[in-house]
Amino acid sequence: MFAWQDVAGPIHRVVTDRHGGTSASSFSSLNLGDHVGDDPTSVRANRELVAERLGVAAERIAFMRQVHGSRLVHLSAADLRDEDPDRSYPQADALVTREPEVALVVMVADCIPVLLHAPGTDVIAVAHVGRPGLAACLLDTVVAAMRDLGAGPIEAVLGPSICGPCYEVPDGMRRDVAAVAPEAFTTTSHGTPGLDLPAGALGQLTRLGVRAERLDACTRERADLFSYRRDGVTGRFGGAIVRHTT
Ligand SMILES: [Zn+2]
Repeated sequence: MFAWQDVAGPIHRVVTDRHGGTSASSFSSLNLGDHVGDDPTSVRANRELVAERLGVAAERIAFMRQVHGSRLVHLSAADLRDEDPDRSYPQADALVTREPEVALVVMVADCIPVLLHAPGTDVIAVAHVGRPGLAACLLDTVVAAMRDLGAGPIEAVLGPSICGPCYEVPDGMRRDVAAVAPEAFTTTSHGTPGLDLPAGALGQLTRLGVRAERLDACTRERADLFSYRRDGVTGRFGGAIVRHTT
């Protein structure tokens, strides 16, 4: 169920793996993505399993309709009042909230799930950082939104993503991304142009004054995680953060 988890005071952070769910075939078995061709009933059951393990009610696990954009949505108590499990989630690539007992989830299969919180405050956030998010400086938007809500020092965890040696891109694309995230410039294990997304994101967060930690796991190399580059048709695992009150 969880490839990684950390509980520190009220903050509970996890990265799911592909085991312990109900999905079949390419999505076996803990697929959280409802946009990848999996059976919706299985996806809903998987999401409820994760909510249960996080200790939140099924209607208090918040997903996004992720579009590789740079829109952040602030989830307020009013947004969470609707208990319809089929309600549509916001189209966004980042979520921020001050509400307790709400699990914010980012779905990935090679992109970086970024989990953020501001110790001593009630502000938590997640971001979906792939190549477009890195290039659009999505993390700047997230950190600014957290500070607007009262965040002082911010801590971030970068969950598993495709690593630099595995992520080949055209040279022009490498140049464009490196213009805004210089640490992402790399060469793959085949000697071709590559992008090191987590190094780039770590650089952006450091310049924003965020204390960030990178979990050293490559999705393409880890059989227990979904990888789009490796498998094409595949599921999505998740990074999640929740602030508990007890
Ligand atoms: Zn790799």
